[in-house]
Amino acid sequence: MIKKILIANRGEIACRVIKTARKMDIKTVAVYSDADKNALHVEMADESVYIGASPASQSYLVMDKILAAIESTGADAVHPGYGFLSENKEFANRLEQMGIAFIGPNVRAIEVMGDKITSKELAAKSGVTTVPGHMGLIEDADEAVKISNQVGYPVMIKASAGGGGKGMRIAWNDEEAREGFQSSKNEAANAFGDDRIFIEKFIVEPRHIEIQVLGDKHGNIIYLGERECSIQRRNQKVIEEAPSPFLDEKTRKAMGEESVALAKAVDYDSAGTVEFIVDKDQNFFFLEMNTRLQVEHPVTELITGVDLVEQMIRSADGQELNIKQKDVKLKGWAMESRIYAEDPYRNFLPSIGRLSKYRPPTEGETSSGAIVRNDTGVYEGGEISMYYDPMIAKLCTWGEDRMEAIKAMRKALDTFEIEGVGHNIPFLATVMEHDRFERGALTTAYIADEFPDGFTGADLNPGNARAVASVCALMHQKAETRRANGSGVLAGHARVIARTFMVESGENIYDLTIENTNGTSLVTTTDGSDKAAIELEISHAWVPGQSLVRALIDNKEFNFTVRPIPEGYAVQYRGADFDVKIRSAYAAELVHIMPEKIEPDTSNLLLCPMPGVIVSILVKEGDEVQDGQALAVVEAMKMENTLRAEKKAIIAKINAGAGDNLAVDEIIMEFEA
Ligand code: ADP
Ligand code: ADP
Ligand code: MG
Repeated sequence: MIKKILIANRGEIACRVIKTARKMDIKTVAVYSDADKNALHVEMADESVYIGASPASQSYLVMDKILAAIESTGADAVHPGYGFLSENKEFANRLEQMGIAFIGPNVRAIEVMGDKITSKELAAKSGVTTVPGHMGLIEDADEAVKISNQVGYPVMIKASAGGGGKGMRIAWNDEEAREGFQSSKNEAANAFGDDRIFIEKFIVEPRHIEIQVLGDKHGNIIYLGERECSIQRRNQKVIEEAPSPFLDEKTRKAMGEESVALAKAVDYDSAGTVEFIVDKDQNFFFLEMNTRLQVEHPVTELITGVDLVEQMIRSADGQELNIKQKDVKLKGWAMESRIYAEDPYRNFLPSIGRLSKYRPPTEGETSSGAIVRNDTGVYEGGEISMYYDPMIAKLCTWGEDRMEAIKAMRKALDTFEIEGVGHNIPFLATVMEHDRFERGALTTAYIADEFPDGFTGADLNPGNARAVASVCALMHQKAETRRANGSGVLAGHARVIARTFMVESGENIYDLTIENTNGTSLVTTTDGSDKAAIELEISHAWVPGQSLVRALIDNKEFNFTVRPIPEGYAVQYRGADFDVKIRSAYAAELVHIMPEKIEPDTSNLLLCPMPGVIVSILVKEGDEVQDGQALAVVEAMKMENTLRAEKKAIIAKINAGAGDNLAVDEIIMEFEA
């Protein structure tokens, strides 16, 4: 039996593996780089080994260092997590030679499936439907154009070694095919050291649906239903769910059985995922197989009750699969929101920094019978560095049906407190509120369709603006009362003085009166337009200093987060970010005669949108550039981001060059006024 597992990974997935190992009474070894000295996975593991400098290429990706850590700690098995060395056949091979159990599939499965072309050929041979296209490699741009015409536009140009959304371009015409071929090839050469390119049909408005498979070393293979991962930006998943709201039982079975047939063709013997693209008529086409634990595996665990990491460990240990296909039952619905340190208002660019506040919602069963699970590798006070994936947490909810899972997710997002780094919770909350999402009418084009001009924050509906304004006024009053008499305890007075305020909530302005009775408050608002007064009965237990506000408004639960600002609070609620300002009638009058603060004009500057390294500057001083033209490429957190001109302009001055390390808002170049 396996006694000690070294986890060749970091972050939430390392923590996830440690949890199951503990449950199985197996010892764990963490490895860490400079940036991860104080990381959660290091603290959770029984032992830890330092493996080098922060860049992954000098630590987590260096096989010799990992192998040395295995020898020095006497670990007898390795879990590779996802990313890093998880799909590296040489790594699996070397472990096999050392007699160390690799907690993943056999080397041949990794090899065949690790290549998009070989795996597609094998899939076709095993009777699995593949995306129509050209099965061979493409030599040059001319051939790319010729093949694209044969396949028929639109086409997807892909790197055979691709992964993580890299090395992939859509082309709608000859020009784009030529360009796409070159950029995919460059990106693939840089990212994977392998620039082989192929071309397949681009399936328009498809869904991404994948099947979880599980095998052992005795020839048993089963499937554990599907996950739908259609909500993507940059071909990368952000929200996943299981089951898919789209599949009927017949299609589910057909996809499951084809996946098992493919897995059998490589004697698959661990957890793995077969990815499909599904068109609007439920025709499904094989995309690729991932021979590892998938980021979004928790949603499958939540609807099947199977611990996938446990199953992987058992299989690596040579044990026979203890679940039969007929025993696999899908129960209820699960959602996953990937919480990323990225700025949804700036085209999802990564952000980094210290988590000055990190308070996830309570895990476990909720009062309404739902389940909350939060997989993470961070803690309050920890740092999101520029070296690794910017994921902060995977927030999952389970409910009896899809709507219950969505409702639980809305509440979980409302009560998730993060400060110090930009994050995408407002975006995730907006999607959860969206009518089209609620209907399950998903495609991989969802984000592009619904947010064509980028994400600008959810619209605040008038009822919510008023409700939040009312609670904020009560909070303000409580804070003021505390300041005045140092205790803030209102109890004991049967009826306390009514107070009148003028409150601005987003775009709305209210005259507001508060009447406090024991425990609850009656807040009356008028907004000038209709003059009809609205009364809300509110109770809350907020105390100054807290960022999470929980209130009952006319017996309905409201949760939102606040940050104090001059005269009020910056509020985040259901995807809307807005300020609430509370002024006494007297102060409100004075506001009109205060000078307005003027923001500096930065429209003639190209600012660095996140901390990172300049990869290249694509223009020269004096160049005239067009709207949308690429100006510079900045690399941060494994991703290259192209910065483009927002209007036609002439470049006046360039202040940065390739290799420069820039902070956020540093000036890269200036345009002529
Ligand atoms: P999933 O379908 O599980 O989301 P992805 O292929 O998108 O899988 O990638 C999973 C993780 O592995 C992500 O964190 C991604 O950044 C990382 N990853 C994928 N491919 C590579 C690669 N070639 N090199 C480094 N990291 C990778
Ligand atoms: P990766 O290895 O980066 O995960 P995939 O081949 O799995 O690459 O593709 C990633 C995503 O790109 C898919 O989830 C899908 O949204 C999109 N995609 C890939 N191939 C096609 C295609 N032929 N047609 C339409 N969309 C595609
Ligand atoms: Mg994929």
